[in-house]
Amino acid sequence: MSAGLKKLLSSRLGPRALFGEVMSRHTTWRVGGPAWCLAKLEDAAEAAWLVAACREHRMPYKALGRGSNLLVSEAGYPGVMIRLRGELSRIEITDGGLEAGGGASLSSAVRLAASEGLSGLEWAAGIPASLGGALATNAGAHGGDMSELACHITLLDAAGGVSRMAGSELPAGYRYRQLPPGSLVLGVSLALRPAAPREVEERRAALLALRKASQPLEAFTAGSVFKNPPGDHAGRLIEEAGLKGFAVGDAVVSPTHANFIENRGRATADDVLALMNAVALKVMDNFSVKLEPEVEVVGLA
Ligand SMILES: Cc1cc2nc3c(=O)[nH]c(=O)nc-3n(C[C@H](O)[C@H](O)[C@H](O)COP(=O)(O)OP(=O)(O)OC[C@H]3O[C@@H](n4cnc5c(N)ncnc54)[C@H](O)[C@@H]3O)c2cc1C
Repeated sequence: MSAGLKKLLSSRLGPRALFGEVMSRHTTWRVGGPAWCLAKLEDAAEAAWLVAACREHRMPYKALGRGSNLLVSEAGYPGVMIRLRGELSRIEITDGGLEAGGGASLSSAVRLAASEGLSGLEWAAGIPASLGGALATNAGAHGGDMSELACHITLLDAAGGVSRMAGSELPAGYRYRQLPPGSLVLGVSLALRPAAPREVEERRAALLALRKASQPLEAFTAGSVFKNPPGDHAGRLIEEAGLKGFAVGDAVVSPTHANFIENRGRATADDVLALMNAVALKVMDNFSVKLEPEVEVVGLA
């Protein structure tokens, strides 16, 4: 089965279909084994074709943004990781804000909005995401999140149909958005408010400075590892449990921000997972609080 699909992908995508591509090259944690294939797609027609081909060959597939919220196992991902680029990574200014492809860079959108005098997205400065990933995880910071801004979403569903819907049609909550299974976010429209470009830029820079002061932005991390439990902060609990600097192999609880795990160079997904489990256990022992992962673990049986 997979030999037939391999031939199909190779002939249509050529070098844009990378078989056995190691995911540590595509995740901000720099860990993760090989995907059966990483497919780089240029437009909606290609995405619809690929989803149909995967379904026909019973091959799992998954959208890959910037890999900034993923812990891919050492065994890798036994399917097609789909990266959206080309037409699907464009950003355009619209009447009420901006419209971007699912593969567009969130940081580029933040900078463009600031230079065009569009306010609302400044909280996202410093989040190394794609627009599709930010939407799917309902990324947020400093009191803002994607669900407040995403007025329209263009989805490719698992049957290959493309539809544009109001953001409110897809329920969202804290770091969560309900997307239909097997769907890909092809594009998103963000509603932003007009403001003086200088004010927006100043707010963007101030929020980025705040982030730089409290997070290890230069290290290989995936941002916050655990969700904040109701009424508390995962980072506070982990720090008070005395775990800053605690390590498994090269995976270390960040001395800068206790809810970040840094890969000091040679950490494996197993190291990161073992450290996450040890941290969650200690927090449970000390405070009777169950920490839920914010990062998504991919590729474990
Ligand atoms: C330094 C740092 C700081 C961070 N700060 C924050 C923060 O302040 N707030 C916050 O919320 N997060 C933060 N994060 C975590 C992360 O950046 C977010 O979760 C982000 O939204 C993930 O986007 P991504 O494009 O990297 O998605 P990925 O990690 O590649 O994927 C995440 C999920 O989204 C899905 N997905 C990706 N693209 C699409 C698509 N086009 N269609 C459908 N599904 C898709 C994937 O399949 C996967 O399930 C931080 C991470 C780092 C490294």
